Amino acid sequence: MSDAVQRFDEDRAPQCVPTRVIRAIGLAMFVACAVLAFGCAPEPERPNLLLITVDTLRADTLDLDTIEGSRTPRLARLAAEGVAFRRATAPMSLTRPSHFSILTGRYPREHGVVNNQISLPADANPVSRILEQAGYATGGFVAVSLLGRGSGSEQGFETFVAPQRELEWRASRVIDAALSWFASLEPDTPFFAWVHLFDPHQPYDPPADLRAGLDADLLLRHPVLGWQQFLEIAKNSGGQISFEVARHARALYDAEVLAVDREVGRLVDSVDARFGSDETVVIFTADHGECFENGVWFEHSDCLFEGAVRVPLIVRDPRVFAPGKRVDSLVSNTDVAPTLLRAAGLEIPQAMSVPPLQDPSGTSRREVLLQNPFYPADVLPARQRRQVVIRRVAGESVAPFESGSPKLGLVRGNWKYLRGSRGDELYAVGAPSGREENVAFRNREVRDEMSNALDAALDRFPAASLEAEEINPELLQSLRALGYVQ
Ligand SMILES: [Zn+2]
Repeated sequence: MSDAVQRFDEDRAPQCVPTRVIRAIGLAMFVACAVLAFGCAPEPERPNLLLITVDTLRADTLDLDTIEGSRTPRLARLAAEGVAFRRATAPMSLTRPSHFSILTGRYPREHGVVNNQISLPADANPVSRILEQAGYATGGFVAVSLLGRGSGSEQGFETFVAPQRELEWRASRVIDAALSWFASLEPDTPFFAWVHLFDPHQPYDPPADLRAGLDADLLLRHPVLGWQQFLEIAKNSGGQISFEVARHARALYDAEVLAVDREVGRLVDSVDARFGSDETVVIFTADHGECFENGVWFEHSDCLFEGAVRVPLIVRDPRVFAPGKRVDSLVSNTDVAPTLLRAAGLEIPQAMSVPPLQDPSGTSRREVLLQNPFYPADVLPARQRRQVVIRRVAGESVAPFESGSPKLGLVRGNWKYLRGSRGDELYAVGAPSGREENVAFRNREVRDEMSNALDAALDRFPAASLEAEEINPELLQSLRALGYVQ
């Protein structure tokens, strides 16, 4: 940890001091420390930082190769101005665990949030806290109450806007709130903004003007599709959801992605017009995708297939990354936090266990640790009940729900290895979507190598030690028994 960061931790100002004063003190201390560290060197450049995370956004939904004619032209333009990482992998396909990995630069087993019922511990020191203490103006704008106040997401944000009474907000509302905040900022103070969008998450319900290309008959019968509708359809169809309805669900989902593209474009245009594109680093990613194959449908929380763990990742920072590049080396959305700190000229705390993204190789990381969530018994039945009702989708049996038992895994090279209650699984990692075949029994040598590599990674990234007051005692006991936390 840098002197600057460490000193701010020790000298935390009392809560009654206005935020603006704390920021001014932080900025002065940052400059003083920089002068001490660099002698008479000028103050390091401090760009604005804009982090955009989209919930449930599959990597294969974005069309980034050309702007002209792209299905997602606004994100294609951002990718043309920055670099697109094509093998970004989320460590867990669940909202809180993966978002907290984005914000802390640590795996879920390290920060301890291994399902959506646990809040981020108060000492987690997310990137928002470090940037706030270094003098950045910080604003968080999230679209779902699951990441609202009390979840721990709000740590380090002077301004934090999230739904409280409603479950979720559409992208346009979240971005309107962020734009109001940008308009209130002093031009000379750098900002860190986190904007979270939730539109692609179930229920699939795109805005009216983005439904034009969809099948009219299916739209009439199924204008919105979510668990409530899927359960009804299955009950009336002998436990089956047809190929036609599954395809329509995907079309509604894809239309939600178009809304994201449009709104992200509006956000980035407004920020660039006000602050200048050269002054603002933009990172765009997702917490996880959504499974529409391999026996897992309309779901992500119990899925470690590529549809759920492969995420988009675009970084616009021309000082570090050559514009328009595509990088195929293995990276993770967990790499975002150290990348933001490096952009701000701040030292990366030792607790952040991953390196920042690099150009041209992408990263020095060789592997990504995977984990499925653990749900206690009182949560599991509702999820398992769905599987009693929905037995087949698009002619394929639905895979059994496994989140009641632990599963750990590793992506390394071109292999993905998973170790769970049903034995070992080994997959060749290729396209960001499609059928994945377990070849563990045919490739025992690779399986054994990956198993050893997983054990070594688990030693390097030990499980968090959670305090009893942070978590329901019964859940804590289960998590400890499974080795998910200490
Ligand atoms: Zn999510």
